[in-house]
Amino acid sequence: MTETGSSGNWRMMGACLSADPDLFFPISAAGPALRQTEQAKAICSGCRVRQECLQFALSHDQLYGIWGGTTPDDRQRYRRRQRRRAAAAAAAAATAAPARPAPPRKRAVTV
Ligand code: SF4
Repeated sequence: MTETGSSGNWRMMGACLSADPDLFFPISAAGPALRQTEQAKAICSGCRVRQECLQFALSHDQLYGIWGGTTPDDRQRYRRRQRRRAAAAAAAAATAAPARPAPPRKRAVTV
């Protein structure tokens, strides 16, 4: 469940609903396409379902287009950061000294 009430209806609430779809799928990452990308990102910046859109793109490995205000390169950088953090956390967990139980105390024997 999302802030929009369900996990499926966010698309109908996107700020891009009435925008030119070509803005969100520029044909390159240079030249006039840069202006398209900036325009698309500006629309996304005011979108109330931006998080849902970005999560969808990440979970479906969207290789093209502007989703949740991110370009494919932005998403690739995000994924790399996430993988580095996960690897660092795993390495830290692996190198942490395992908790060893304290040796049993010798009881004083009284005779
Ligand atoms: S974040 Fe951008 S691409 Fe996604 S629904 Fe909103 S306006 Fe559309």
